[in-house]
Amino acid sequence: MTMDAKGVIELIKAKGIQIVDTRFTDLFGGWQHYSLPASRLTEDMIREGLGFDGSSIKGFQAINESDMLMVPDPSTAFIDPTLSVPTLVLICDIIDPITRQPYSRDPRTVAKKAEAYLKTTGIADTAYFGPEAEFFLFSDVRFGQGANHGFYYIDSPEAVWNTGAEIPGGNKGYRIRHKEGYFPVPPTDTLQDIRSEMILKMMEIGIEIELHHHEVATAGQCEIDMRFDSLVNMADKVQKYKYIVRNVARAHGYSATFMPKPIFGDNGSGMHTHQSLWKDGEPLFFDETQYALLSKTAQYYIGGILKHAPALLAICAPTTNSYRRLVPGFEAPINLVYSMRNRSAAIRIPTYSSSPKARRIEFRAPDAMCNPYLAFAAMMLAGLDGIQNKIEPPPPLDVDIYELSPEEKGDIRSTPGSLTEALDALEQDYHFLLKGNVFTTDLLETYIETKRKEAVGLSLRPHPYEFMMYYDA
Ligand code: GLN
Ligand code: MG
Ligand code: MG
Ligand code: MG
Repeated sequence: MTMDAKGVIELIKAKGIQIVDTRFTDLFGGWQHYSLPASRLTEDMIREGLGFDGSSIKGFQAINESDMLMVPDPSTAFIDPTLSVPTLVLICDIIDPITRQPYSRDPRTVAKKAEAYLKTTGIADTAYFGPEAEFFLFSDVRFGQGANHGFYYIDSPEAVWNTGAEIPGGNKGYRIRHKEGYFPVPPTDTLQDIRSEMILKMMEIGIEIELHHHEVATAGQCEIDMRFDSLVNMADKVQKYKYIVRNVARAHGYSATFMPKPIFGDNGSGMHTHQSLWKDGEPLFFDETQYALLSKTAQYYIGGILKHAPALLAICAPTTNSYRRLVPGFEAPINLVYSMRNRSAAIRIPTYSSSPKARRIEFRAPDAMCNPYLAFAAMMLAGLDGIQNKIEPPPPLDVDIYELSPEEKGDIRSTPGSLTEALDALEQDYHFLLKGNVFTTDLLETYIETKRKEAVGLSLRPHPYEFMMYYDA
């Protein structure tokens, strides 16, 4: 039973809710919100929308057209499991108050258009996504106010004194060894109870959890896996996931970061994204006669993702820091190929199960800094483009690709080396994103312009490592 406006008002009364918190996602994946007394909320407000200043949100509106409306989606109502005042959260779509049309720069609107477009293609009716968002918990991270000095910098995998492995009194026993965080039991794993608390809160609000564990990095790296869901639902869940991770971490004196490469020389944090297409309740990616039991449809989907990967990464690995993760040696992909079981390829085909329903691809390049609404929509459009244009992927490669010599690698393409390269690729290759009017050129231009400022902003600032190399040279 999906909830409607009336149901929301009834829920507020039945559960003694005191505050209603309306939230939407900005262009860059941030969750924005405001709150009102629950007694003020009416069915009409839920249907008509609530006003906010769109010009104060990065990438949204100009000052002279700043009034915007957020319209709650009643089916998303959940009681916030991290706040002490009883608070009902409503996830919102954004519309223009004058035209009352969905706002083309609203990521959730983009994701909804992607789902609608999928149905019109006749290829499939549902795309499922299963993201594995990794993150670090740190107990003491500092960076100063100055724009170009005084920020905290971790340059060594041995620099674990500031991480979750901290042991009061300086006892160094049961420390995680370098790259051996996956996955000894406590007391080596000091974050067990915190992750358990996180998943219990996630489950309280309807997120189905598969498992949680410490990750490979020396200390403080975690992963929680959610059961797959359809595009918009899963993007909503990623927002809730990050929110709960951050708030539970904070309640325990840690801060959580989804930054892809916080520690030099150790594993980074990705958001591997499992994907599959379904039609009339049947999976479309299975064929027992083919390599890795992958149907032709799945192979073309892979062909599309690999072809468009450099452009896709501007959206799926969207920070300057993302490209410090996409380097050899840390289970993050650099080669644009696919493979069974192989964690050095950009696309891995999981082989744990041979069931048709479990047949899926895992794109390993994304990280959790992405806006999940835009990232899932973009990956699906790339895959669909592969199917529509019968794009053959390069042949699968079942060797450790990190170890190949340049001759052996032949013409295997690589992930972009920097955010700037990825943005250049997106500028050259964006037509597949415009299908079904899912993305608009206006959104992409704004996105690219803002992201270029991040890359330039970094390049202008003296880097701590430059001080190490040059200060007293
Ligand atoms: N953390 C690795 C990454 O950056 C992956 C490790 C794993 O999940 N096997 O993608
Ligand atoms: Mg995993
Ligand atoms: Mg992992
Ligand atoms: Mg994985």
